Amino acid sequence: MNETLWEKAVDFHGHTCMGLVFGYRVVEAAWRVFGERDVDEQYVAIVENDNCSIDAIQVLLSCTLGKGNLIYKDYGKPAYTFIRRKDNKAIRVTLLDPPDENRDIIRALREKVDAGQASETEKELLKTKSEEQIAAYRSRPLEEICKVQEVDAEIPERARLFSSVICTSCGEKVMEPRARLQNGQIVCIPCSLAYTRGWGTA
Ligand SMILES: [Zn+2]
Ligand SMILES: [Zn+2]
Repeated sequence: MNETLWEKAVDFHGHTCMGLVFGYRVVEAAWRVFGERDVDEQYVAIVENDNCSIDAIQVLLSCTLGKGNLIYKDYGKPAYTFIRRKDNKAIRVTLLDPPDENRDIIRALREKVDAGQASETEKELLKTKSEEQIAAYRSRPLEEICKVQEVDAEIPERARLFSSVICTSCGEKVMEPRARLQNGQIVCIPCSLAYTRGWGTA
């Protein structure tokens, strides 16, 4: 594991955690296939969760929400698709669940800490075990951490620029394709939800 790049990810994310380790390892899997480091907009990432792991992908692969090359699907799955723009080569990386001697111990200790029932010794032990777990996942073979498959993937359309309209309810600007009509009046989504509360939002 490249120490400088790991530090860069920790800096960006703000702390060290298992999620970030997984994100780093997923990025490593992408580098292994594509053999290149980050270049602006070179990759499109489609991520199927929004946990800590995504920060490693943003900072190390330069896939960001603002550039439109980070696409989030709220599926709650530890799955990541990377598409290289220049040739459409794509891989899907999914996390595996390798044996982990620390997992159950950490879970039990965390429950105690959260319930306010942990002794100082147990709190210390949780810290030590968590650090141990992070170190283990940083160094274990990539094949144990994730599965990599080549897939066919379409690069989603680049963000287009739309004109704005003014919401008649709050007076704020909203891009035209996101505006709604309510009793013949143009409204933004939050304002339309306020009216339809209890009736579903479709
Ligand atoms: Zn985190
Ligand atoms: Zn509004």
